[in-house]
Amino acid sequence: MAPSPPETKPPKGGEGEAGPRRIPLIGFLLLALALPVVLQSLAGFRTKDPIRYDELIHYVDEDRVDWVQLGEREIVGAYKTGRKPARRAGSHQDRPDHFATAPVKDDSLVPLLQAHHVAFRAVLPSAFSEQWGWILYFGISVLFMIMLFGGMFKRMGGAAGGALAFGKSRGKVATPEEAGVDFDDVAGAEEAKQELLEIIEFLKTPEKFKRLGAKIPKGVLLVGPPGTGKTLMARAVAGEAKVPFISISGSEFVEMFVGVGAARVRDLFEQAAKVAPAIVFIDELDAIGRSRGATALGGGTNEEREQTLNQLLVEMDGFQPRKAVIIMAATNRPEILDQALLRPGRFDRQIVIDRPDRRGRKAILAVHTRGVPLGPELSLEEIAIRTPGFAGADLANLVNEAALLAARHGHDFVTTEDISSAVDRVVAGLERRSRVINPEERRRVAFHEVGHALVGTLAGSDDRVHKISIVPRGVGALGYTMQLPAEEHFLMTEEAIQNKLASLLGGRAAEEVVFGQPSSGAQDDLRKATDIARAMVTEFGMSDTVGPVSLSGDRRNIFLGSDGGPRLSPEMSPSLAETVDKEVARLLREALARAKELLLAHRERLDHVAEELLQAEVLEGERLDALLHGVDRDALD
Ligand code: ADP
Ligand code: ZN
Ligand code: MG
Repeated sequence: MAPSPPETKPPKGGEGEAGPRRIPLIGFLLLALALPVVLQSLAGFRTKDPIRYDELIHYVDEDRVDWVQLGEREIVGAYKTGRKPARRAGSHQDRPDHFATAPVKDDSLVPLLQAHHVAFRAVLPSAFSEQWGWILYFGISVLFMIMLFGGMFKRMGGAAGGALAFGKSRGKVATPEEAGVDFDDVAGAEEAKQELLEIIEFLKTPEKFKRLGAKIPKGVLLVGPPGTGKTLMARAVAGEAKVPFISISGSEFVEMFVGVGAARVRDLFEQAAKVAPAIVFIDELDAIGRSRGATALGGGTNEEREQTLNQLLVEMDGFQPRKAVIIMAATNRPEILDQALLRPGRFDRQIVIDRPDRRGRKAILAVHTRGVPLGPELSLEEIAIRTPGFAGADLANLVNEAALLAARHGHDFVTTEDISSAVDRVVAGLERRSRVINPEERRRVAFHEVGHALVGTLAGSDDRVHKISIVPRGVGALGYTMQLPAEEHFLMTEEAIQNKLASLLGGRAAEEVVFGQPSSGAQDDLRKATDIARAMVTEFGMSDTVGPVSLSGDRRNIFLGSDGGPRLSPEMSPSLAETVDKEVARLLREALARAKELLLAHRERLDHVAEELLQAEVLEGERLDALLHGVDRDALD
């Protein structure tokens, strides 16, 4: 089926937390602004009223002075309580309790002080403590300035990571209890869970595996569209194995000072080594693991990302021999990852987590409605049927919305009505992100896919149909039919190729038979079929009109993923080229006609399988076999 419109990417960091990262910088600015005040109050005793020498004499005369210290460079003193001179003109603040003035050579001062019973003493001329005060003040100010600028630089770079935590990993360590999730909380991803069991075993008893010299995958990459529970799954693995979970999001790494990201990676692994066995989880791996040199994608300085990525590779290479640490990562864009990350010994184990099918959705709904009182008439099955294309996060959101609506309407439990409104809301949101196809299209996709499968089966194709699915997939297809050769073979007879052609055109044939006209959805099928038909004519000599000649310009096996079809040798005459084109078109027309004929003859079966597919969304294995062969085994479910 046709590729769906490219999925809009969630805003960067949409899965991470962007907000809190601002706080350190703001707090920091405030601190810097408040600094002078803080220092002044700390050094409160030093704030002195600057007075002239004649004023000093005057105040002593007026008996306002309590005591003085006679220094070589400065005379300081204190006013008597309650005898402080009035505020200065234009000032709205009281004078400080202390005053200071520069000394004047004046032999009459001491007698005057004595006359007015002012305590006085001389100070040694060192002024040592004063200098220290200034040095301290300057030092602290400069320090703060540096930090302030640091913060601003980082902000300009787009990320205001905690400026006080340079080079420190912000990886969060969660003990198993804190992680608090296990496989019971992750529903409908049975295959992925199955694959992760081995990892859990290893984390539980690493000695057992090490003793036997077993090679355990170092890195496990969870791949799947947003909201399908990748992060949740990683946590659940830690929860099941009861080991600490050290997580960090790739988006936290980007756009930092050069070298900081690498330091954080180092730190992260050090942390893990301390608490091993443990899981290191790097969420949104694509943020750092994006292929080197792919500058156009933007975001962060390249140099920084490369350093971070290199450090990650270094750590991954040097890690496992020492410690039982499994590195897990998640991404929804595996295609942009640097190839070096996917090499053996790194993230060589990939686990796909796809959007759930109907059964999976029902299970996820069950998890999320655990604590929600549901109306007696409410059926999770029905909600699952109504929510094709929803990922786990969408379903969690749906339940929450419904509960909110129920509360707003003053219901005692969530009713079908609440769910309906909530579905509408969530769907509206998803539609904007072009993730949900309308029921019309869904029907068409179902018939299209069944068309492929049924024609393949009826025409007696060598390929067995393993699986049909109409669960929309991220970037790829609206639906797909998986056909695999029943047994390996190296040659294909003319008949086998014709069967393959018919099966390829079976999707379009079904659309024509059922809906009266084809859709653009068969585009990809047509391209493949055309390539094959052209090869039949120009390479395999399977056209009577053209004859048993090879007209091909190059030698590629078109059955092994040819891209543009065989190129014709340039010396072909125009009339021959025309004949070739006609022959190709004839082969395709005949194949399509045959496919339609088969489907018309088995129209009931087509309808039946399509309805089943619409219901179940995924058909596979024995059940699919039985349906395609018209063996009525409904009881099998
Ligand atoms: P991802 O990391 O793949 O984008 P998350 O793990 O962040 O997805 O999932 C977001 C939320 O959606 C989870 O916290 C959980 O509430 C819900 N969710 C997703 N998938 C599942 C699932 N298979 N079972 C139960 N809840 C799920
Ligand atoms: Zn198709
Ligand atoms: Mg996530």
